[in-house]
Amino acid sequence: MANAATNVESTPSAAPARRVRPRPQYRAVVVKRVQDLTPHMRRITVTGSELAGFSTQGVAGHVRVLLPAPGQETPALPEWGPEGPVYAEGQPRPTSRAYTPRRWDEEALELDIDFVLHGDNGPASAWAARAKPGDKLAVVAPRRAFQPDPAADWHLIAGDESALPAIATILEVLPASTWAMVYVEVTDALEELPLPSAARVEIHWLYRRAGAPGSKLVPAVREVTFPRGQGRAWVACEAEVMRSLRRHLIAERGMDRAAVNTQGYWKAGAANHPDHDTGEDI
Ligand SMILES: Cc1cc2nc3c(=O)[nH]c(=O)nc-3n(C[C@H](O)[C@H](O)[C@H](O)COP(=O)(O)OP(=O)(O)OC[C@H]3O[C@@H](n4cnc5c(N)ncnc54)[C@H](O)[C@@H]3O)c2cc1C
Repeated sequence: MANAATNVESTPSAAPARRVRPRPQYRAVVVKRVQDLTPHMRRITVTGSELAGFSTQGVAGHVRVLLPAPGQETPALPEWGPEGPVYAEGQPRPTSRAYTPRRWDEEALELDIDFVLHGDNGPASAWAARAKPGDKLAVVAPRRAFQPDPAADWHLIAGDESALPAIATILEVLPASTWAMVYVEVTDALEELPLPSAARVEIHWLYRRAGAPGSKLVPAVREVTFPRGQGRAWVACEAEVMRSLRRHLIAERGMDRAAVNTQGYWKAGAANHPDHDTGEDI
């Protein structure tokens, strides 16, 4: 029996296949638990039947978290049209920000997301600071998971507190055969979190205190002595700090671009920095 694909190929007048944009699933969830991990890191566990079938797609990926617009209790979710998401006319758009799925429990349908509380100037941070069980939100489009190279002899991992959830997920999957040098810039010692790993890990906590983002991370990475063998770098932090580190790793250290995975997780002075800023301009 001929299948549909065979029929299309053998019909000369068939119109060229139209690229269909994948439809991400908007999953309505509620807050189940709120736990302060540190003074500035709050774990919010969300749950809901719409999480059935969710997958984190690997480590250090992200979801878009959709939060109710001011004055709403539930975020308005779009319908999916041919050109992408369409919101009902006059409906306020939800606040959408990128966050790392820190822990996913498929049986309990629980997803942990760790929010940096950086102040009330960010709607997501402000929402997290006030979140309580029962609050409604949605998550969509798990994306861009990272696959640490199992053949690498060593990994250089650098980031700020916004990258701590992603760094934790990477360290959880690194094999015992590898070596990881981890540099994390946070405000002070109260922001340190456990980072378990099977790998041989050397963790450097860097305290910026009242200093600028990157003021401790950049000089620390510049001073790292790279071990012998094949190395890989993973960096996520403020966007200009990321660029400074990317430039250093590629232009000054001579690392291959393919061995350097970088991402600007937020940008000083800019709201909702795009979640595809991988610093390719460097
Ligand atoms: C792939 C990916 C994964 C991410 N995972 C996480 C995660 O797991 N946990 C997490 O907390 N963040 C994570 N982030 C970063 C988060 O998306 C941004 O910090 C986001 O801007 C927060 O939204 P907001 O509404 O609080 O602030 P926005 O409205 O976006 O920004 C308002 C102001 O706050 C400043 N600002 C934003 N973020 C920070 C910050 N972290 N520190 C200091 N100032 C800031 C901005 O410069 C701006 O001036 C991730 C980002 C990406 C791209």
